[in-house]
Amino acid sequence: MGMERVLRSQYSTVVFTSGSRKLRFNDTLLWLNGPTQKGSSSWTITRYDSEAMLDPLLRPSANVRGDDIATIVLDPGHGGSDSGAIGHRRVYEKKAVLDVAKRTRDILKAQGLSVRLTRESDYFIPLAKRTSLARQWGADLFISIHFNAAANSSVSGIETYVCSSPGFASTMGGRADPRTYKGNQFDKKNTLLGYYLHRGMLKQVKAIDRGIKHARFEVLRSAPCPAALLECGFITNKSEAARVISRQHRATLAKGIANGIMSYIAKTDS
Ligand SMILES: [Zn+2]
Repeated sequence: MGMERVLRSQYSTVVFTSGSRKLRFNDTLLWLNGPTQKGSSSWTITRYDSEAMLDPLLRPSANVRGDDIATIVLDPGHGGSDSGAIGHRRVYEKKAVLDVAKRTRDILKAQGLSVRLTRESDYFIPLAKRTSLARQWGADLFISIHFNAAANSSVSGIETYVCSSPGFASTMGGRADPRTYKGNQFDKKNTLLGYYLHRGMLKQVKAIDRGIKHARFEVLRSAPCPAALLECGFITNKSEAARVISRQHRATLAKGIANGIMSYIAKTDS
């Protein structure tokens, strides 16, 4: 366990842990690209984490003010021959995510937003096609929706992914990748989008907060706009799978996702 340092302002509380990438912002867990370093007289975080994570969290409006969010693309993961994870009680990821995406679309449309889905029914669609559709449709936000799976069935909770910054390994490990991808031009906005979506879901659904993580998933690397990928629970976990079967739970998740999007949009004109 590292030492903790708490920074408090009128609006926010930030908790750093020495030697760790763990960052607590208000009630939400985020993972920095690199660990917080405790020196003899000061603590430091990497420049990327300062500029692309901390700054947008502390000054959200300054980072998105004036952006016009006209078109939102929701991407239900998998489909067709790619069933995604198959969980307890034969919960199919591809079916559950499509339902959640449609419910999210309905809520956003009722708010007057223009929303498109990368797939409307159960068919296969390659990863590259998903972001090329988003580009073709002039997407202003891209959100990929998934359910999670783990070999260990006791694992549960919600996690949200945004694109890793250049030069860092992903949160789950692997090698540092020095390349800058298309998705990296939105690093600051990705952080905010991920944060509001993650918080939106966890405000609606009681679940373990596994945090906002970094990964170089293809849809995040090649997104033409701010993007996040949601893992809305583990269908390999008995009780989370049981919840996903419930229409009420999927509706609640959709409400959380829609609320997250609305929170992000609210910052563009505040
Ligand atoms: Zn998936």
